[in-house]
Amino acid sequence: MNITAVYPGTFDPITNGHADIIKRASKMFDKVIVAVAASPSKKPVFSLNERVNLAKTVLEPVTNVEITGFNSLLVKFVEQSGAQVILRGLRAVSDFEYEFQLAGMNRHLNSQIETLFLTPAEEYSYISASLVREIASLGGDVSPFVHEKVVAELSKKLG
Ligand code: ADP
Repeated sequence: MNITAVYPGTFDPITNGHADIIKRASKMFDKVIVAVAASPSKKPVFSLNERVNLAKTVLEPVTNVEITGFNSLLVKFVEQSGAQVILRGLRAVSDFEYEFQLAGMNRHLNSQIETLFLTPAEEYSYISASLVREIASLGGDVSPFVHEKVVAELSKKLG
């Protein structure tokens, strides 16, 4: 069976935590589609195009990963992609409540699609894109948390 997983998120910007989840998933699925959500309500710092391009740079070494932007309902995007799985990352118990609700709602919308959760390596479990943005905007060093290209783009945008 050929299984494709969709990993949706805002990726504003992609962090080492996201990349860790994607690399783990790439070993489990035939294809992983990183679906970058437009998320206009979150007022992202990086445009959709910038977020897609940063993810492409970071994930360049991973062969069975495809990166694409989307602005439709997630389950519709998954159906159109011919994927069977929605992949999400869980860092801590605090992620669970929202992720549980999201998984339940997506199952209600399409019961054929399964949501699977992966946890990152421990050193990535406290990284969030929002903290990275905050640290960068205050002049802190974010190089332990994101790819060097992301460090450079953050400093152009917020530095
Ligand atoms: P969203 O706006 O959909 O929450 P994010 O880009 O913040 O988008 O996160 C996408 C997914 O990646 C979510 O499931 C989130 O819990 C997970 N995630 C975010 N940061 C990490 C990390 N450091 N380690 C593992 N998973 C993460």
